[in-house]
Amino acid sequence: MESKEDLKDLREEVAETTDQIFKLVARRDRLAKRIGEIKTRGSLPMESDTVEDALFKRVLDDCRELGLDQRFGAKLLSMLISESKKAQGIKAAQPLITPMMMMAKATEIERQGKKLIRLDVGEPDFHPPKAVLDAVSKALYSFKTYYTVGRGIPELLEALQGYFQRRQNYRPDEKQLMVTPGGRFAVYAALATTLAEGDSAIVVEPNWPAYKEGIDYVGAKAITVRTTLEDGWEASPEEVKAAIRPNTKAIILSYPCNPTGKIIGKSMFKEIVGIADEAGLTVISDEIYNDYAYKPCPTILESLPKKYILTSSFSKAWSMTGFRVGYALGPPETISRMLKVLGLMITCVPEFIQLGAVKALDSDREVARNSKAVKERIEAVAAELDDIDGLEYNRPDGSIYFFPQAVDEKFDSSAFAMRLIEKKGVTISPGTGFGDYPRCFRISLGKPKETLVAGVRKIGELLA
Ligand code: PMP
Repeated sequence: MESKEDLKDLREEVAETTDQIFKLVARRDRLAKRIGEIKTRGSLPMESDTVEDALFKRVLDDCRELGLDQRFGAKLLSMLISESKKAQGIKAAQPLITPMMMMAKATEIERQGKKLIRLDVGEPDFHPPKAVLDAVSKALYSFKTYYTVGRGIPELLEALQGYFQRRQNYRPDEKQLMVTPGGRFAVYAALATTLAEGDSAIVVEPNWPAYKEGIDYVGAKAITVRTTLEDGWEASPEEVKAAIRPNTKAIILSYPCNPTGKIIGKSMFKEIVGIADEAGLTVISDEIYNDYAYKPCPTILESLPKKYILTSSFSKAWSMTGFRVGYALGPPETISRMLKVLGLMITCVPEFIQLGAVKALDSDREVARNSKAVKERIEAVAAELDDIDGLEYNRPDGSIYFFPQAVDEKFDSSAFAMRLIEKKGVTISPGTGFGDYPRCFRISLGKPKETLVAGVRKIGELLA
């Protein structure tokens, strides 16, 4: 039997081993610093995915051999790499102007009494369906104003089951569903439950900035698959396959895409999902714009890989951005982990809001009307853009955005956005908010046709 003396000795040895580990970390940082100096002197690239990949592979192999948890190994390595980068003076690149920053600037100008043409905000201007407003006010006056279950009220879960049955001929089990405060929260909870520090996730760019920000926030690394206007904003299955690393755990797909409006073909989507499935990744499919689709749009429900999370929201199709209500659909165990995040942070989505959402699912006519209006706006904006020589664009297949690109290869959309707001009173979202796209900017179609036409004309005037 081991004695108290043994315990003391063992604790001493643990302390010494910990000292050694930290001495090794300090040595690793000193080496990293020297590498950094050599790179700076030789004007060599500061970061290398190949070097990082090789290290990850090595650590995962080591873990296997030493009987250590591989996820722990990946996490520790990720922390060591961050420290080395700090020692080398490498900082994460910040987008120059994010859509959120643009919104803050525009709101500040508007508060001073100046009128702006707001083409930056990604929200439709339509009114929510009247049935939704009636249901919410009735719910308020019936005192549906207390806590409710985290997953969502039975009426809304049932309405969602009926909705998927009607649209996709797929009836999810109640345990596969949860109501969230907006699609944004569904995306965050999906990332927070599938990724940990040391993991990575694939994002096709350009895309909604919150994907990368969320991946970053949970301590994982975003791997981007870049698409371009010239290749039709399309990522090939081969490119996706090549992006998968030893520590990759998820891929985010979102069609119609914000900001490009791209919808990839159903067979290509299935192929990409198949590749992800084979590699054991969770496919997070953000289907928030699928009612603004002007060609057949893929859904994860047609592929159903082993690990998947569909996220969506009432924000866009029903124009209910301020209600903050969305949902997620996935395998029961995944949803149950996501419910923990929701419970911890907000307890539940307000019941009176959920009762409004129930009525939204019954408002197909309004959705069709909104979708038709956006289609007309696409036609009107395309006609205006055709008259601007300095811009090229792909006509969006869906979503509520255009993402034109300046012909001038030195174009800086952040500087342009600032001049545009000052000289013409028009706001846009610079392309750098959606990835490395300084030549592009996003125009949101959330305003009446006449306003859009006037705004795009002013863009043309400033470019001329
Ligand atoms: N996904 C995408 C692609 C979006 O563009 C947005 C909003 N701009 C969201 C999710 C989140 O929307 P909400 O939280 O309002 O539902």
